[in-house]
Formats: sequence, structure tokens, C-alpha cells
Amino acid sequence: MADPHQERYAASLMNTFGPPRLTLARGEGAHVWDTDGKEYVDLLGGIAVNALGHAHPALVAAVTEQLSTLGHISNFFASEPQITLAERLLALVTADGGRGASEASLETPSPGKVFFTNSGTEAVEAAFKLTRRTGRPHVVAAAGGFHGRTMGALALTSKEAYRTPFEPLPGDVTFVPYGDADALAAAVTDETAAVLLEPIQGEAGVVVPPEGYLAAARAVADRHGALLWFDEIQTGVGRTGLWLEHHRSGVVPDVVTLAKGLAGGFPIGACIALGAAGDLLQPGNHGTTFGGNPVACAAALAVLDTIEAEGLLDHVTVLGQKLRDGLLADPRVTEVRGEGLLIGLDLASDVSADVAAAALRAGFIVNNPTPHRIRLAPPLVLSEADAAAFLEAWPAILDDAMGES
Ligand SMILES: *Cc1c(COP(=O)(O)O)cnc(C)c1O
Repeated sequence: MADPHQERYAASLMNTFGPPRLTLARGEGAHVWDTDGKEYVDLLGGIAVNALGHAHPALVAAVTEQLSTLGHISNFFASEPQITLAERLLALVTADGGRGASEASLETPSPGKVFFTNSGTEAVEAAFKLTRRTGRPHVVAAAGGFHGRTMGALALTSKEAYRTPFEPLPGDVTFVPYGDADALAAAVTDETAAVLLEPIQGEAGVVVPPEGYLAAARAVADRHGALLWFDEIQTGVGRTGLWLEHHRSGVVPDVVTLAKGLAGGFPIGACIALGAAGDLLQPGNHGTTFGGNPVACAAALAVLDTIEAEGLLDHVTVLGQKLRDGLLADPRVTEVRGEGLLIGLDLASDVSADVAAAALRAGFIVNNPTPHRIRLAPPLVLSEADAAAFLEAWPAILDDAMGES
């Protein structure tokens, strides 16, 4: 049955995303329902955003309560949720190993500063402007990296198809192969303001760097007085089983950008700068009307509280491993990568679009970021039963996609 929304969508919305897969009507936990009433297990979570799934009572309550108390005030004024969230994020980023969030003391002097935005690309934009304030123009970023779609974020994103129509882009940016410490060392100079890396590349199809890569990046940045900036917009806030994925390496960055899962689906982004980097942006250097509004900050606080209260970091670690093991058991999967519930897998041929379509027919939402890669980034609250149901359906999904029986 044709979805009548498709025609209206095509007639009224700019064609930047291609036709929508479905028109969704409601969600609960890791499940969503389309406008025909068909149910799906959501293994994409709004692209690593719906950390608590759909309609989580804690998130609904926090947003409802804050919006009925004080919704928007502009940055001429402060609000309690905004300050508390900045303190919590600074404590999280600097917490040893990423597991000490609750123990991290808020009494210690501020280890850095936060700038709040409404999206990932804006968090990247803020950080990019911050790096300019070092007086150096050059940034080194990784091929295959993704940092967003504003002109600044695009300048830091290597993908030619995204960049070419919009050149010239701002900045002096060098791209190096991801995971190659020698190439990175060769590209960074005394003119380099920052080295920008995702601790795991998300949009590339979940690409994990070799062990020691982030530490090597820290060393080369230090050697040249450059800032080390981790874009954790996709990997952060529990997605990989740690509060921040870079905690796995023990490396301390200067700048961290967050967004996606931070407020569980309520738009927010954060540019977190540690130590002296926190003072690079000064009055007049940057601004935002909506960024840091009380509702978005209350939503983020509810997400952080719930991840802690429900023990989701351990759940994500255990369930992610089960999913990776189960997916790899099928010989048509050539590689499975990732940490926690950020999972990428490779197929032997370019059939990922067919696999995603077959999964949808079987009632599972997955994503195909490249022609031969499938990505899963489900809600952190995904149940054991839903994960097991997907693994059970997986061989038949591949049969359906590859035309076998
Ligand atoms: C999604 C993403 C962005 C851009 O975030 P938007 O909210 O879509 O602007 C930037 N960096 C990384 C690593 C991302 O995954």
C-alpha cells in the first residue's frame, strides 16, 4: 500500500534526504510504529540520538516540567539547568576512565568551559572558531571523518560529494588517513591550531582506529603546541559503553564536541574546552539565541541521570558484544566493528541498501552508511529480547536482500 504522505512530503519538503523510508507515528522504548500501525524495532535510534529510546518517562517529565516552568530566556540570562549541565559535562569529560561520573567532585575548580548549541554541526562550528583564536589557521582532520554540514563543519569533513558543490570552504584543512599515526605526525606543524578526530568514525560506517592512535595524536599535538579535539558527537554519552569513548584510551583532549545522544532527542550540542582552551572564546566572539536553553539542558540532565540510574553503561557494553558476536556468525558478514551499541558491519558486496530494505520489511530499522556497510546505533535501553529477535531474523534478512532462499 502506497504511503499517502510520500507525495505530500515530496511536494513540500526540499529533496535533501531522498524519499523517507516510512512515515512514523509514535514510539515507545526501542519500538516505533508507522502510520499504518506496523511495528518496528528501532536499531538506529534517530542516528545514535534516542539514547533512552522513545517517550522515556524521565525525559518526558523533565522536558514537560521545565517547559511549564521556564522555557526560553536568551543568553542575556542564566538558568540553573544550564549551569548544572555545564558542570556535569566538565566533570564527565575529566572523570578518570569515564566510569566515575557520580564520584566526580563538582567542588573542584572549573577544569574548563562549555558553550551550548542546538546541534552537532553548531558545536563543531563553535570549536572551529575557538581553534582560530589560537592565531593559527591550520587544522588537521581525518579522511572519512564527518563533522556536520555548516560551511565550517563541512570544511573539516573530507567527503568530496558533500564538499565540492560548496567550495570554496573556509579554513586551511589537511586530511590524513584515519588511524595512521605516521601520516598524522607528518601533517601537523607549528602552524597547526588543532588536530580533529572522532575516537571512532561513525558516519564512515563505524571505523575503530588501531590501539595507541589517540595517544599518538596527543603526542604530536603536544609537540607542536596544537589543540587536540575529539568529536564525540556520535560516540559520546554512553553510546560505546563509556561516558566518552576517548576515556578508553586514557588520553586527555583539549576540546570535545557532543550532540546527538546528549539530550536523548531534544536538540542540543556542546563544545567543551578544557583548561586554558576554555578561555579562547571571549565576549563578542560567538553567540546563539537558542543554545543552552533551559528545556534542552533539563532534557540532557535527565539523560545523564537515567544512564546512571538504570546502569546503562554496563548494559550497553554487554549487549553490544552479544550483537557483534551474533552478527558475525553469518558468513555473509565479513567484519564487525564498534564498541557498545555503536556497531558497524561489512558485507562482501555492495548490498547494504537491499539489506536495510529487507530489514525494514522484517520489522527492523537499520542504516546503510556506505554501499557495503550496515550501522546499528539503537537506543541504549534496547532490551535483550529485541536484540535476540534481531539476531534470529538476521539470516533471513540477508536471504531476502541477496535473493536467496
Ligand atoms: C552527526 C555528527 C555531526 C553533525 O551533527 P548534526 O547534529 O547533524 O549537525 C558532527 N560530528 C559527528 C561525529 C557526527 O556524527
